Amino acid sequence: MKDLAAEKRLKHGISTNTLGLQKIRDVYKSEGIAIDLWEASHRIRAVYMCDGGDPSVLVNRNLPKEPRLFAMVHELKHHYCDQTVLKNGQIRCGDYNAHELMEKAAEVFAAEFIYPAQEFLDCAKSVGLKNGEVSPEEVVELKRVCGAPVSYKFLQKRLEWYGFTERGEFAKIQFQKLEEKLHGVPIFRQPWFKARRHRRN
Ligand SMILES: [Zn+2]
Repeated sequence: MKDLAAEKRLKHGISTNTLGLQKIRDVYKSEGIAIDLWEASHRIRAVYMCDGGDPSVLVNRNLPKEPRLFAMVHELKHHYCDQTVLKNGQIRCGDYNAHELMEKAAEVFAAEFIYPAQEFLDCAKSVGLKNGEVSPEEVVELKRVCGAPVSYKFLQKRLEWYGFTERGEFAKIQFQKLEEKLHGVPIFRQPWFKARRHRRN
């Protein structure tokens, strides 16, 4: 999966710090996959469909930016690898089926495509993270420095995987709030900005 992710990054000219939803939309376009945003419960993140050689992906429109990006890259793996095992012409992806091997592989592919593990390890080293001694404040700094379009959940999984933190060590930490405490509330989350946006819509 990691090799496939590296190959596809190269093919599509992906670099971690410029990767975003627009870039993924370009990748979908060049792979010939249609995208439909769709109103769904939070349990289903996205659905891959291929009907008569016509691939499309439904994406849950309620997902925030980083999870949406992750879900879209996850679906790319189904496009590359799983077209022969579609059930009723589709694969529905959510947390509930994360245990299946095919789904786990898609998670590994997405993680590596979005933020290669080696880049993460280099960044962790450059900010001086030490195994077993990482504080929540350091996780906030890592997220700000790394430049990768990933969520705190993503970083926590990586930190756990490489033994920087214990599994579930920061389960009770609200990282977004901690970041706002340390660095202020970003403009797009401030009440006056939200009110302005609502008026325009
Ligand atoms: Zn899936």
